[in-house]
Amino acid sequence: MEKREAKRGRIVLVPIPAQGHVTPMMQLGKALYSEGFSITVVEGHFNQVSSSSQSFPGFHFVTLKESLPESELERLGGIEFMIMLNKTSEASFKDYIAQLLLQQGNDISCIIYDEYMYFSGAAAKEFNLPSVIFSTQCATNYVSRCIRSKLNADKFLVDMEDPGMQEKVVENLYPLRYKDLPISGMGPLEHVFELCREVANKRTASAVIINTVSCLESSSLSWMKQKLGIPIYPIGPLHMTASPPASIIEEDMSCIEWLNKQKPRSVIYISVGTVAQMETKEVLEMAWGLCNSNQPFLWVIRPGSILGTNGIESLPDEVHKMVSERGYIVKRAPQLEVLGHPAVGGFWSHCGWNSVLESIAEGVPMICRPFHGEQKLNAMCIERVWRIGFQMEGKVDRGEVERAVKKLIVDEEGAGMQERALVLKEKLKASVKSGGTSYNALDEIVEYLKTK
Ligand code: UDP
Repeated sequence: MEKREAKRGRIVLVPIPAQGHVTPMMQLGKALYSEGFSITVVEGHFNQVSSSSQSFPGFHFVTLKESLPESELERLGGIEFMIMLNKTSEASFKDYIAQLLLQQGNDISCIIYDEYMYFSGAAAKEFNLPSVIFSTQCATNYVSRCIRSKLNADKFLVDMEDPGMQEKVVENLYPLRYKDLPISGMGPLEHVFELCREVANKRTASAVIINTVSCLESSSLSWMKQKLGIPIYPIGPLHMTASPPASIIEEDMSCIEWLNKQKPRSVIYISVGTVAQMETKEVLEMAWGLCNSNQPFLWVIRPGSILGTNGIESLPDEVHKMVSERGYIVKRAPQLEVLGHPAVGGFWSHCGWNSVLESIAEGVPMICRPFHGEQKLNAMCIERVWRIGFQMEGKVDRGEVERAVKKLIVDEEGAGMQERALVLKEKLKASVKSGGTSYNALDEIVEYLKTK
């Protein structure tokens, strides 16, 4: 990755301002930079990657004038926020590209935009520039979005009252059923479908780069190839190819020393990612269940991740004491190191796609507790396709938590899941090595961009 080839054209990257999306986009940027491309990152006013620009020497960062303030995210909700962000950013992005073309000469090889930053497509069309979509989520979600983009909200709600329809498999994509399509917990359905339509519209993009691996999602990838009619490049997992940007919140490395003192495969690692929030009651039930399981646990509790409290400090003293006897709590963990640590035997995850890839890459089986949207699809794949974990559904209750932890870490069933996870780990390793599917796909997209 260190080598830097002869100078090539400029790649304009347009990530979403959310860590789970920014990280793989920047990893792709690093891979392309090492091939000699100049990299310009276009961002909004919050969650700016440029705050960790030391991780990207040589990259150029620009801020779009008209991007929405973060406060609007809470007011509008995620789906409407994305729709508005695209509306308000289109004109200023066009202005920026016009300016860049004037200043730098015509050196733009390609605009690579996160699938949710579809406003970028208008500038690509206006200035006749090549564009490529970058998907940071799984291919099954891409498929599910294309399917949802064709649905009518009112009709769908009526159709879904029929249990036969709920169980129906979507377009031969077993085991994806209509009831698995992510629709709940994201606001009004017509807005969800509107966003799906916009994101599913490939505009003038000539390819899709996707952070997944052929061996994990071959049928969804074939579906995409056939339906979109443009090349699809599954180049993941990108964290195995390039290092991530420095984290905005400092990672607490002391947990590695704590892990060093635990028995092999005994620890359950718990993290719900960088966005999800939990109710206090749920956190308390988890705390009891984890302690009752008698397994050691490493728990990430982000500031702000427990609704209505300042964090673990505000929980009752009794819980505090109990948790500190068996567990270790951090505000942010070095997740890649943690998952790769021999003491870790399982991952309690919200099933964000990055976490899923990182867990599989280390052969760690999972307890899935998805919150919304695509996380539920990822959990379905973990449980029903790859069979390397299981879902905790319904209310979190201490008894269920205790049983789940034992099932994963102690029981025979969990051992089977770990065995399958280890097989996938080897497949992922092979995919990013010379001659592997992701390695070749990255090579192909680089060659393609060199011709632009
Ligand atoms: N992460 C981390 N330490 C933590 C929590 C999260 O390094 O304590 C990283 C994790 O490795 C992953 C990302 O944050 O790369 C979370 O992305 P994901 O797609 O799993 O979930 P999101 O935060 O987007 O919901």
